[in-house]
Amino acid sequence: MIIIMRSDAEKNDTTTLISKLAEKGLSVHRSTGESRTVLGIIGDIRSLDRRELELLPGVHEVIPVSKPYKLASREFHPEGTKISIGPLVIGDSQIAVFGGPCAVESEEMIHKIAREIQEVGGVGLRGGAFKPRTSPYSFSGLGKDGLRFLSEAARENNLVAISEVMEIAQIDVVAKYCDILQIGMRNMSNFNLLRALGTCGKPLLLKRGNAATYEEWLMAAEYLLAGGNFEVMLCERGIRTFENYTRNTMDIAAIPIVQKLSHLPIFADPSHGTGRRDKVPAMARAAVAAGANGLLVEVHPEPDKAVSDGPQSLTIEQFAAMMRELRIIASAIGKRLAGEV
Ligand code: PEP
Ligand code: MN
Repeated sequence: MIIIMRSDAEKNDTTTLISKLAEKGLSVHRSTGESRTVLGIIGDIRSLDRRELELLPGVHEVIPVSKPYKLASREFHPEGTKISIGPLVIGDSQIAVFGGPCAVESEEMIHKIAREIQEVGGVGLRGGAFKPRTSPYSFSGLGKDGLRFLSEAARENNLVAISEVMEIAQIDVVAKYCDILQIGMRNMSNFNLLRALGTCGKPLLLKRGNAATYEEWLMAAEYLLAGGNFEVMLCERGIRTFENYTRNTMDIAAIPIVQKLSHLPIFADPSHGTGRRDKVPAMARAAVAAGANGLLVEVHPEPDKAVSDGPQSLTIEQFAAMMRELRIIASAIGKRLAGEV
């Protein structure tokens, strides 16, 4: 249930209402918009009477939220959520492009790619240090050293650093070195991890499970929000279908659909979405045209030698060409690439 306060409500009206709800064992998430305050009620609302609440001073309207995800719903937060990380704002009219290797392979390579990404207009540096691999015999990342290399390379080049956290025990170290913690496709339904990340105090990027419906994905986001963390971004990264020409089927429609259902910014990952470097730029362009707030793209100095996901990684030249095209598409829809004036 959501309570919308009147634009002329007194501060006291809101605090009295919150304490009344607390007496009933309910907690409240307060969202202060430009014109009014919206209260999202968390907990078992069966004891609440909608009409009674509507008669309280300062209350404009009480809206029962029909969706199982409440805090993630657009009803709860009609204006889109904006997330600030230093000077970067995610979720407004800027499109944030993050690039980098699937995995941090060495200190030298991550510094080289960071410099190049920054030079062609990227604003974020990705790179896995704890890698979820389908085979137990594959390279599983440099761990803490990888995070340190990633964070230093990002800092030296004014990029935000993003890396995946695979389990609860890794949260502190990933949060220490990164600006954004990525929750991978394989962990979208790891509810214990999601609960723990809800209180980590760092921006999060939640990838869609490869067989998850929009509702399941938004319910996963709800875990993060229910823990008090509202700096949550979603990321479409392709789903599994009967088609096997590509690694996954990139669901571009997810972008406008999720933006209608939720206030959370949405990214697109055309690298995992297709698994093929020759299809990445086209899907990146489509994602921007569809309204994505950001992109996560795999880029490698020598993709053919990459230890993971080489076939879907762009060379820096291909990334630069993609950025030039994205710039044109962004301006055609009244947006611009983040970091540019
Ligand atoms: C990744 O970003 O390298 C990754 C493992 O992604 P996903 O969780 O989408 O497979
Ligand atoms: Mn990868």
